[in-house]
Amino acid sequence: MAQNLTLLDHPLIRHKLTILRDKATPPALFRQVMHEVGPLLLYEATRDLPLGETEIETPLERGRFPTLDSASVALISILRAGNGLVDGMMDLMPSVAVGHVGVYRDHETLEAVRYYFRVPEGLADRLVIVADPMLATGNTASMALSLLKRAGAKRLKFIALVAAPEGVAALSSAHPDVPIFAAALDRGLNDKGYIMPGLGDAGDRVYGTM
Ligand code: URA
Repeated sequence: MAQNLTLLDHPLIRHKLTILRDKATPPALFRQVMHEVGPLLLYEATRDLPLGETEIETPLERGRFPTLDSASVALISILRAGNGLVDGMMDLMPSVAVGHVGVYRDHETLEAVRYYFRVPEGLADRLVIVADPMLATGNTASMALSLLKRAGAKRLKFIALVAAPEGVAALSSAHPDVPIFAAALDRGLNDKGYIMPGLGDAGDRVYGTM
């Protein structure tokens, strides 16, 4: 598999993913668990985030200590399922700027179509972390990354919950500079473009629109 992919297979993530896969999990629990797994994925995918330093006083002495400049990062949700992950990620980085990219997949052609694009200023100076729970064909993700690059983004990471080998291959080939993080690499796509065994339509399950 492409070296672009890092599997985030922490036991907590794997356990939560099983709850998400279970078709008996109702939307309220699905949404809650998706919210919980977002920060865990972000935590693992930001291990190499550069830190600055700030001078503060502990109760005992003055010193310089590591600090994260939230202006150096942007989180981007690919609508609408991305919100399920990004809402939870914002708990971990409450000051981070968040963008939304609306690119849906035409169910007939499986091609990506853009319908919404609103992102933070200064993408060129930020690490841009893009989230979509399902990396299926890679068309949506690839188009979102292209739009973000066109808007100035230079350093990007892509976080999914479940990836298909087809999506990882397509995204790695279209955007070899973008590291991909996912909790699981599933078997592949079915003839409707769903990931198998997957968890179904993530957006429908978050918002109860099945
Ligand atoms: N999008 C989803 O929500 N689920 C899939 O299995 C594939 C794409």
